[in-house]
Amino acid sequence: MSGIEGKVVVITGASSGIGEATARQLAGSGASVIVGARRTERLETLVADITKSGGSARFRAVDVTKRTDVQALVDYAKAEFGRVDVLVNNAGVMPLSPLTALKVDEWDRMIDVNIRGVLYGIAAVLPEMKARGEGHIINVASIGAHVVVPTAAVYCATKYAVWAISDGLRQENNDLRVTVVSPGVVESELADTISDAATAEVIHEYRRIAIAPDAVARAIAFAIAQPRDVEVSEIIVRPTASPN
Ligand code: NDP
Repeated sequence: MSGIEGKVVVITGASSGIGEATARQLAGSGASVIVGARRTERLETLVADITKSGGSARFRAVDVTKRTDVQALVDYAKAEFGRVDVLVNNAGVMPLSPLTALKVDEWDRMIDVNIRGVLYGIAAVLPEMKARGEGHIINVASIGAHVVVPTAAVYCATKYAVWAISDGLRQENNDLRVTVVSPGVVESELADTISDAATAEVIHEYRRIAIAPDAVARAIAFAIAQPRDVEVSEIIVRPTASPN
């Protein structure tokens, strides 16, 4: 796809689901992708697959809750490919539960991964993108950035935050492109982090209508492929069968 070929794209949370699909999609369109996550054996396989198909890819272990890790991922991309054109802040966790369950450690984890991880990504690329006067930051939020449902109060709060951070970033930086992508239910490992048994059962049923992660990857590719003066600020991608 024109507008993607030759771009250097860093993707967090690319060891499964939407991040992995996005890496395959963009590499298939000629981008150089640098993928990060904690499960490096998965990333190694992904990079080997992309390379075998003639694409360009590298991986590095990253825990997005550590600012130094996120900076090291971006620095590695710059060392390998000279710059970062696009950052896809995709890593996220969703251990849903009612607030009364008091799973405070899980609240903290969602805040650390879903909010702090996104902010650390922005901090890692912003100075250089500003110096160059161009760049594209894509934050993966959720339909949960628009609608709150029971058991998802904290998760939705983190995604509302991602939405707000994205809009603030967009308003402050007319030289950069900012996109917030809000998926509905998508096949992935996201629900595996739910430790509350009753919630897991409800969500398992709710997720039966899930669409494939490459639906979101195509939306991300669409935003990147636009000309430099066109900013796709927000995309919502959900199953046709979605009730909300
Ligand atoms: P997955 O669970 O399949 O993928 C999540 C990714 O995040 C994994 O690669 C995981 O890698 C990574 N990750 C989790 N914690 C960390 C961490 N501390 N540091 C680095 N990477 C981390 O789920 P999805 O693909 O669905 O999720 C991708 C994004 O999409 C998330 O932000 C999620 O909130 C959002 N989303 C998903 C929806 C869905 O229905 N699937 C709906 C709406 C939004 P590893 O464990 O190897 O570190």
